[in-house]
Amino acid sequence: MTEKSPVVPGSATPSTPPPVRRPATVAVHAGRPERKPDAPFNEPIAMASVYVAGGDMEYGRYGNPTWTAFEEALGALEGGRCLSFASGLAAVACVLDLVGQDATVVMPRHSYQGTIMQLGDLEARGRLKGVLVDIEDTDAVIAACEDAALVWLESPTNPALEVADIAAITRAAHDAGAYVVVDNTFATPLLQQPLLDDVDLVLHSATKYIAGHSDVLMGALVTRDDQLFDVLKKRRDLTGAVPGPMEAWLALRGLRTLHLRVERAQANAQELVARLGEHPAVAKVRYPGFGAVIGVEFAQGVLAAELLVQKTKLWVHATSLGGVESTFERRRRWKTESQTIPEDLVRMSVGIEDVEDLWEDLRVALDTLV
Ligand SMILES: *Cc1c(COP(=O)(O)O)cnc(C)c1O
Repeated sequence: MTEKSPVVPGSATPSTPPPVRRPATVAVHAGRPERKPDAPFNEPIAMASVYVAGGDMEYGRYGNPTWTAFEEALGALEGGRCLSFASGLAAVACVLDLVGQDATVVMPRHSYQGTIMQLGDLEARGRLKGVLVDIEDTDAVIAACEDAALVWLESPTNPALEVADIAAITRAAHDAGAYVVVDNTFATPLLQQPLLDDVDLVLHSATKYIAGHSDVLMGALVTRDDQLFDVLKKRRDLTGAVPGPMEAWLALRGLRTLHLRVERAQANAQELVARLGEHPAVAKVRYPGFGAVIGVEFAQGVLAAELLVQKTKLWVHATSLGGVESTFERRRRWKTESQTIPEDLVRMSVGIEDVEDLWEDLRVALDTLV
């Protein structure tokens, strides 16, 4: 019998597989500078448009070490290789550009309105053909996949909060030879990792939960397909839809606490869903069962929705979502929002405050609407 030698720190042989880290640990540790004496803990903000010739970066449109740190961290959380963009919609444009002239793109009819507007614009200019589907009608989506070159999924959808059967639709789309992209902005990689369902691309508006503090616009794409990565990197190089170094730094700073923020916001949301459902001013609560976005419709309709967003003291009436602070918005105040979204739907982005304060503020306003 051989005796095991005591483990000496740092003595692991190169063949030792790296330990599988859990998401909270990845969020904190991924994308750090190499650990050596006097190395900074955090990748500094590299304000550089030009690099000394002969390396990989050369010019500020092609690469930046602060982006790289952010991309490593988000890539590690989603389980693929990440490219950051100037905004979520810049990433959307890059994906829509993947497919050829006259290609068919299948998209949820209740996707984020900016995404639908991009597709509509391309369609109006004769570039692509869009087919809008009810993403919860899996059979209809699968039927639509047949002619598609790109199947767009957003799950849950913004703001209807519908959930797609990602695995089933992805199988059908791949059988038809189409790419599948999932906009994972609402779920975050902590609640849903679409790459595990074999999708080709994950998209984020990092503006929302990833950065998480309502102070940055940024987008990202993540893929496991090296060829696709190279094509997308080339598109980003050519179009220049790159983030600023400061934005990348702030987004990574935010990502370090993603797990804590999502956990707290989701717990708050689940509590509020239960209480909202009991309130007589509320006709309907939409909630997909996870995440921190809620949809509310009102017994007294659109007027009640308008009054609610004006009467609260803590909840802020504002667009966007995914920040530490609770915000809400009647989505149809935008003329561009889908006409099949109810007029009185208020989308609530639940923050990380104390849920009792959030409820008290809502309850007082709701009581006046009965
Ligand atoms: C906000 C949002 C986008 C667009 O991202 P920007 O960063 O605002 O350009 C795309 N998809 C979803 C689901 C969003 O909520």
